[in-house]
Amino acid sequence: MTLDLVIRAARLEDRGPAQDIGIRDGRIVEIAPRIDTDARALDARGGLVIAGFADSHLHLDKACLLDRAANPAGTLKGAIEAVTAAKKDFTTEDVYCRGARVLDRAIGQGTTLIRTQVEIDPGVGLAGFDAVRQLKADYAWGVDVQICVFPQEGLLNYPGTEDLLRQALDRGADLLGGCPYTDTDPEGQIRRLFAMARDYYVDLDFHLDFDLDTSWRHLDWVAREAIAHGMQGRVAIGHVTKLSMLPPDALSDTIALMRDAGIALTVLPATDLFMTGRDHDRAVPRGVAPAHRFHDAGLCCTVATNNVLNPFTPYGDCSLPRMTNLFANVAQLGAAQDLSACFDMVTTAPFRLLGRDPALRIGAEATLVALPCQSRADTVAEIGRPIWGVKSGRQSFDAPQPILCVGGRE
Ligand SMILES: [Zn+2]
Repeated sequence: MTLDLVIRAARLEDRGPAQDIGIRDGRIVEIAPRIDTDARALDARGGLVIAGFADSHLHLDKACLLDRAANPAGTLKGAIEAVTAAKKDFTTEDVYCRGARVLDRAIGQGTTLIRTQVEIDPGVGLAGFDAVRQLKADYAWGVDVQICVFPQEGLLNYPGTEDLLRQALDRGADLLGGCPYTDTDPEGQIRRLFAMARDYYVDLDFHLDFDLDTSWRHLDWVAREAIAHGMQGRVAIGHVTKLSMLPPDALSDTIALMRDAGIALTVLPATDLFMTGRDHDRAVPRGVAPAHRFHDAGLCCTVATNNVLNPFTPYGDCSLPRMTNLFANVAQLGAAQDLSACFDMVTTAPFRLLGRDPALRIGAEATLVALPCQSRADTVAEIGRPIWGVKSGRQSFDAPQPILCVGGRE
């Protein structure tokens, strides 16, 4: 059969046999040990080939702000205040340019699916949403973007926010987010968002329990509402840094609660490590939720980027292999099966959370990323940098590995 593109020597499973993959009209049409064709070829060189990485939590609208928003204390309060002040000057063009810088990087790092959290309130209006919606359309050649609109500065305490969130949903936002810890009525915000999610039949994704005080939490309210609304499997919570402070018994109870409520856990290690425990002058608590424990119990757990070069996280290269390596290091994971689980948290788990199937089989969309490693665990351990990517049958990036110049190049 006539092919548009053929992939050579791709491993579809850990240390599995090398296979060729035939692509036509944007789809995988053949997988075989050897495909005879004159079609253009991309060589995977015996490395793992996957459907790309998925970043389930990435703020495009407030990325790349270090030149205008400082947070010298490194606290959550300082970050929110700095972004709130900078946000007054956000325009659609400005958000578009900064978001584009992030998407350029993310595509080159092998990310093919992103859920982006976009702030909506009467201060910024729909400027961020309009920019991200345009980015979603303009970057469809390289990455699929799902838009989660949310009230970073509170919902019930900020009149006009709900109306704007509804406008964004009417105009194509994919789901609703929440941030109860900044609301004067956190429980009221959670109830209101579940009611809105029911109205629009969209999923929910909360910023939740972003501190280390285990004497209170909002998780129980979210779990109660998820069960009451029959939304098991459609609710995610991010940060939840309190989970890092739970003793084993309480952690087991919480895992059972989240399993019953079908709630997914997203860990954002770069931000959590940067911001939490700022009141400690030594032995600073890590504040990273033990996602591997939840993953082992069968829950959907993702590791994500969250912020890039802003007051919440003054770092970022959009690499999900790097982010999951950071998580593995903090969680003290080293066995191959644990590192494989970490790999799943930036691939199969976020794909599932975002409602996509990343399996590479005949008939599937030809979105493929080649890695310089033969296994998932190796990719996490070595921070394997993708060497090329294909989106819907067309090459989306090329990132050759370094070529050493032994003895110097003349
Ligand atoms: Zn976030």
